[in-house]
Amino acid sequence: SERTLVLVKPDGVSRGLVGEVISRIERKGLTLAALELKTVERAVAEQHYAEHDGRPFFESLLEFITSGPVVALVAEGPRAISAFRQVAGGTDPVDKAVPGSIRGDFGLEVQYNLVHGSDSPESAEREIKLWFPNL
Ligand code: ATP
Repeated sequence: SERTLVLVKPDGVSRGLVGEVISRIERKGLTLAALELKTVERAVAEQHYAEHDGRPFFESLLEFITSGPVVALVAEGPRAISAFRQVAGGTDPVDKAVPGSIRGDFGLEVQYNLVHGSDSPESAEREIKLWFPNL
């Protein structure tokens, strides 16, 4: 069994899609190992998105992710990392995410793509430590 770090980003929380996202995670067969609503500090956001430091959208991404509360959760199950990325859909909600995925069904713009999911076992371990140091 594997664990992945999922965020419902500020756009997902403000649009009232927290239940929708959690429901899709559960219906996929993944289970919740941790769950918290929190407004993230800039330093945590910088660490979370460290790999994007220097990209043109980095500053705007940090402003967005710290703009309101997010729901952070750890989902667990066989191939949880890939399974959640399938449930989320591709990064661009229109060009990449297919209908039936969270981003494909609810998203329009690449920055406001509603959810984050770890992209590898190494990222998952790093991100789970960052968001849930006590887990
Ligand atoms: P996440 O890491 O949030 O799951 P991802 O792995 O699908 O998303 P990344 O390429 O890692 O996508 O980009 C991280 C996040 O940065 C995206 O989810 C999106 O919110 C934002 N982002 C990516 N590309 C752009 C862009 N061209 N313009 C604005 N924001 C972007």
